[in-house]
Amino acid sequence: MPTDTNITAAKALVLFSGGQDSTVCLAWALSRYGEVETVGFDYGQAHHIELECRDKVREGLIALNPAWAEKLGPDHMIAMPELGAISDTALTRDVAIEMGENGLPTTFVPGRNLLFFTYAAALGYRRGAGVLVGGMCETDYSGYPDCRNDTLQTLATAITFGMDRGFSIETPLMWIDKAATWVLAEELGGAALVDLIIRETHSCYRGDRSHFHDWGYGCGSCPACELRAGGYERYKAGSLPRKA
Ligand code: ZN
Repeated sequence: MPTDTNITAAKALVLFSGGQDSTVCLAWALSRYGEVETVGFDYGQAHHIELECRDKVREGLIALNPAWAEKLGPDHMIAMPELGAISDTALTRDVAIEMGENGLPTTFVPGRNLLFFTYAAALGYRRGAGVLVGGMCETDYSGYPDCRNDTLQTLATAITFGMDRGFSIETPLMWIDKAATWVLAEELGGAALVDLIIRETHSCYRGDRSHFHDWGYGCGSCPACELRAGGYERYKAGSLPRKA
């Protein structure tokens, strides 16, 4: 593996959308690495609400833990308008959220995570961050092929060779479900982090911030809301193992 003194495994760049998963990933990175920066992507999402949550979540994490406040560095925003323009998806066009003929939901944006990590690596190259962190998950991933562990670890190898620097891709949520994601949040930041996620993060595909539930804001019926609500219910039911 190529190595370079300018790129460090102690500095992480978190793909941060302002949603529940990437917020837990950000807290996870802040509890592990010496320096952490965030990057968000604007690819013409029909709803900008998730992106608007980003600042509030970052401020909330800073207020939660002085050590995290010291580690959290700048936020970066990358505009990728072409991604929305070239793909036909319910997230960027007026297409119904449903199962497509290819067996994938119409929310699938082809190649999205490949592009996100490649852009993040280009940014990490400049910022000296050798660890790229994302909230992808094979457990409740709707079958998105670019969320698979094999996809992302193969990509990390391609990026490392293609940029001649040692990059790793870390996905702390890869093998856990939405209920366990809430447990992980509690382990990382206690009830205060769980509360921050409920109040300030956004998952709803319809961009609904007018209905508040015990698991947060959302329409309550789109696939993202159903996943979030179902996971929260199982988390509150307390049937999951917690670390001592
Ligand atoms: Zn929803």
